[in-house]
Amino acid sequence: MSQDQTADRTEGDLRNTGMSLRHDRTWDYELDRIVEAVEERDAEKVGLQFPEGLKRRGPAVADDLRELLPDGTRVMISGQPCYGACDLDTYLMRRTDVFVHFGHSPMKDSEKIIYVPLFSNVDVVPIMEEAVEKLETSDVGLVTTAQHMNKFEAMREWLEERDFTVHTRRGDDRLTHEGQVLGCNYASADIDADQVLYVGGGKFHPLGLAMEHPDKKVVIGDPVNNVVEVADTDQFLKQRYASVHKAMSAEKWGVIFCTKIGQGRWEQANEIVENNENAYLITMDEVTPDRLRNFDMDAFVNTGCPRITTDDGPRFHKPMLTPGEYEIAVGNKPLDELSFDTFHGTW
Ligand code: SF4
Repeated sequence: MSQDQTADRTEGDLRNTGMSLRHDRTWDYELDRIVEAVEERDAEKVGLQFPEGLKRRGPAVADDLRELLPDGTRVMISGQPCYGACDLDTYLMRRTDVFVHFGHSPMKDSEKIIYVPLFSNVDVVPIMEEAVEKLETSDVGLVTTAQHMNKFEAMREWLEERDFTVHTRRGDDRLTHEGQVLGCNYASADIDADQVLYVGGGKFHPLGLAMEHPDKKVVIGDPVNNVVEVADTDQFLKQRYASVHKAMSAEKWGVIFCTKIGQGRWEQANEIVENNENAYLITMDEVTPDRLRNFDMDAFVNTGCPRITTDDGPRFHKPMLTPGEYEIAVGNKPLDELSFDTFHGTW
C-alpha cells in the first residue's frame, strides 16, 4: 500500500486487483447523483478524489461533469495519494462545497462527501465453483471487499442454493457493509464458523484475515487473478518475526503518527513515546521508505495503516514494526503474542 503502495493492500489501490489492468470495463461514476447533489446544495466548487488505479480517468470524469453541471461550477481533482476511505484529501475537501470520493465505501458519513463505490464487474461464480471444493463442512463464513460488495447477496444465494449455511455479519463502524473486510479490519469474520470463504482480489486481505482469525481456515477465491487457495500465514509470520528480532537491539525508535484523517492513533503513539525516553514521535502523511531514510533511528513503529508495516516493511531501511510487535521487541510482551495489527473506529 507505499500506502497500498503494495497494490491490494488496501481498499483503494486497484493496481494489483486487476481492476484497472486486466479487465476492460466501464465504471459507473454516478454522475447523475453528483449533479443532483451539486444542484441541491448550490455548490460552486466540486472536489474529486480517485484511488491510485483510476487517477488517469480523473480528467475525463471532470470533463463529463463540467458538461452536466451549471456554468461556472469549478471541478478540481485531488492529486494526493489515496488508498482508502481513511485517506480523504482534507485540504481539498475544506475548499469545496461537494467532495466526491471514488472507489471506497464510506468510513463515515458526512454531509459534504459523496462516496461513489465503483464496483468490479468480474463474474464471481466460476471461482466460487472451484473454491467450495476446498471447504470442509457446509458451515461457512463469507466475506469480500468493497469492490465486490455489489455481488455479495448473489454470492450468499449461490452458496445457499448448494446447501451451505452461510454466516455473515457487519464488523464495526469502520465497515459499511455486512461481510465487508478492509486491509486493516476483519471484524466481519467474527462469525460462528470454522471456515471463511473470501471472494475478492489479491492475497493480502485473506492473509490478514487468517492472521486475525488463526482458528479458522480461510479459503481464497480470487476472481480477478483466477486463483483458488487456502491462506497460509507461515511466510508472513516468518517475515514479521524476523523484523521483530532485528528490532530487539534497537536503541533509538521513531514512532510514526500518521496525519491522514482515518489513520491516526494519537494515544497509542504517545503512550509509546511517554514510556520510552529513546523514542521520538514523527508525524507524517505518506509513510514511505524515502521519507524515513534521513532519520537516524534504529527501528520504527508505525501507528498508521497496518498494511504499510506488513506489506511494505522490507522496503524500509530499518525494521518497521506494528505497535503490538514493538511491545514484543522491547520485552513487554512474549513473542507468541504476535498478532495482526487491526484498526477500528472511524475518522
Ligand atoms: S488504514 Fe485500513 S482502510 Fe486505510 S488504507 Fe490502510 S488498510 Fe485500507
